[in-house]
Amino acid sequence: MNTSISQHLFEKAQNFIPGGVNSPVRAFRAVGGSPIFIKSAKGPYVYDEDGNEYIELINSWGPMILGHAHELIQKAVSDAIQHSFSFGAPTRREVEIAELIVSMVPSIEKVRMVNSGTEATMSAIRVARGFTGRDKIIKFEGCYHGHGDSFLIAAGSGAATFGTPDSPGVTRGVANDTLTAPFNDLGAVQQLVDANKNHIAALILEPVVGNMGCVLPKEGFLEGLRKICDEEGIVLILDEVMTGFRLAKGGAQERFGVTPDLTTLGKIIGGGMPVGAYGGKAEIMNWVSPAGPVYQAGTLSGNPIAMAAGLTMLNYLNDHPEVYTQLESSGAKLAAGFRASQEKLGLNYTLNQIGSMYTLFFTNQQVTDFPSAKTSDLILFGKYFHAMLNRGIYMGPSQFESMFLSTALTDEHLNKIIEANEDSLKEILSL
Ligand SMILES: *Cc1c(COP(=O)(O)O)cnc(C)c1O
Repeated sequence: MNTSISQHLFEKAQNFIPGGVNSPVRAFRAVGGSPIFIKSAKGPYVYDEDGNEYIELINSWGPMILGHAHELIQKAVSDAIQHSFSFGAPTRREVEIAELIVSMVPSIEKVRMVNSGTEATMSAIRVARGFTGRDKIIKFEGCYHGHGDSFLIAAGSGAATFGTPDSPGVTRGVANDTLTAPFNDLGAVQQLVDANKNHIAALILEPVVGNMGCVLPKEGFLEGLRKICDEEGIVLILDEVMTGFRLAKGGAQERFGVTPDLTTLGKIIGGGMPVGAYGGKAEIMNWVSPAGPVYQAGTLSGNPIAMAAGLTMLNYLNDHPEVYTQLESSGAKLAAGFRASQEKLGLNYTLNQIGSMYTLFFTNQQVTDFPSAKTSDLILFGKYFHAMLNRGIYMGPSQFESMFLSTALTDEHLNKIIEANEDSLKEILSL
């Protein structure tokens, strides 16, 4: 595989951009080698600058749930740009998308659009603090909620990969207000709550984690958190930036039957444009300015082009429940294929999968939290990643990432992934 143009671009990029990339995981540091530079993508395929074709498993970390450059979204965006790109004033589509989100995610009564998942979680925490009059928050080790200061404590994928769980530049004051517990450990949460009575504003988590690799909540975990939050007057925030509109039309909260007070959204909600949103109980959201005293604003928030893309995406998902049926069966088919290969090769690596999200962990231990995810053999993962890439499969370049399937993947593509997986395992383990 020739990647000389990508390599050249990366060398040049490092002169002008910190580390050569605009988001750390893209630099391939966790897997070694040099990143491929993407030129275009269509349906299930991405193409790099050297003309190589790959089957997509990143899908922009989730937004491309219908595959790349879907015609309906392309058309919505090209229609919208005829009317200019930004007004900084209210528009009809903002009302339509808010109404649609409220109808698709029952726990959301009011919603505010922002420009990224990071903004959504930062804002949700601020509202929770304003609403409760408390300062501290609880998050879980390995959960990522964007790069807001409060969340760069035991923050999963990016931070995990680079071994800097606490980023320089985050003040001790901020860090002191963030308490962390192991994922799936209700007892630890109860202890934190007991030790900080009436000081905890919010508890935030990814209901299914994507950012330490794919990790599922144990039975009773989400319900238990809901109960603790109810007892202690803590705002329960489900960060569904990854899982929203992916694990079900109404997100993981629909799938697991748990009702949060606030929800944060991003990724799919913009159809590939930069968008985030936070919403929830009207009683809490009415604290947001100008309805209430908690300030939050954005020059480009509700951007008309982004709203056109997002509205078209959400309308499509709302009108096509078969999307979720297909994603379920694609995920199940892939998992079955991976398991069959492992059995054939006498391997027992942990595969976590739910719907269209999965991670193959290079460990034989069950992965239920960050410490167990970290028992994975990262060197082996790096080899596996490159073996897959050489076979035309474009995966997230870190053990601590989830893959994201799209509806553009047919059985034929899934079979290719299964075959590439088996061949890659054989190659890296010399089987
Ligand atoms: C991606 C992600 C974020 C951050 O969203 P950005 O748009 O990258 O700022 C927050 N929370 C979760 C769960 C995410 O996966």
